[in-house]
Amino acid sequence: MLTINNIINVLETYFPLKDVCEWDFSGIQIKSKTKTNINKILVCLDVTNEVLTEAINNNIDLIISHHPLVFAKDINQSNISNWKKELYSKILIADINVYSLHTNFDISLVGMNMLMAKELKIKNIHFINEEKLAIVGKFDRQMPLKELINNLKKYFNVANIQLVNNKLSDNNIVTVALSAGAVGDIISNLSNNIDLLITGEMKWNYIMEAKDRKINVILVGHYMEQKFVDFLFQLLIEKLSTKVKVFKYNLENPITFF
Ligand SMILES: [Zn+2]
Repeated sequence: MLTINNIINVLETYFPLKDVCEWDFSGIQIKSKTKTNINKILVCLDVTNEVLTEAINNNIDLIISHHPLVFAKDINQSNISNWKKELYSKILIADINVYSLHTNFDISLVGMNMLMAKELKIKNIHFINEEKLAIVGKFDRQMPLKELINNLKKYFNVANIQLVNNKLSDNNIVTVALSAGAVGDIISNLSNNIDLLITGEMKWNYIMEAKDRKINVILVGHYMEQKFVDFLFQLLIEKLSTKVKVFKYNLENPITFF
């Protein structure tokens, strides 16, 4: 058994709060009044009613999510939906701790982009800007587009990906930018000599910018971030499993393709 503060200390050793982007709200979301000693942790991508039900059914003491439960300074802000406010009240009643690891996870050297780079065997990596939410690297060969798409679909367990295709012949991908999630504005920081940007999703105006500047983009879908759950689950098992039980919430892709 560990206390909530012990666990937060472990998490923040790997993913310090000082790395959280200014606009982000990572860290403790709800601190339980009764559950200071932690026996069971549930890792998830987003906190939803289904996650809460699973947490209650399994006597979970701490939920760790990637996306912050409250994306604001406090739950009463006007930009927070009623769905979220109701969910928040239910968690308070269940009295479960909630902690979120968002941009401090994304930018870490074991974060989402680095995981993807490792999987795709991308080398010579550097960050694109100070926020570190995107990286650029190179394949050690000319990567055929079809092979890359198949690898991405398999790795992220998605049936389809979207392609903003400007000038790709079948096998000319060498320099790639990677940015998991929905970081479409990263496009403004990319130089035109990048062969391809791989990201989760992008708003239409950024797609127009990519098209107009002839930058190729692969949109894997935001579901790609379920990889966070697998990674953190594994890390917690390695570091804490002698003291706490760790569970993960296996979200199915909420988007179906027809
Ligand atoms: Zn995300």
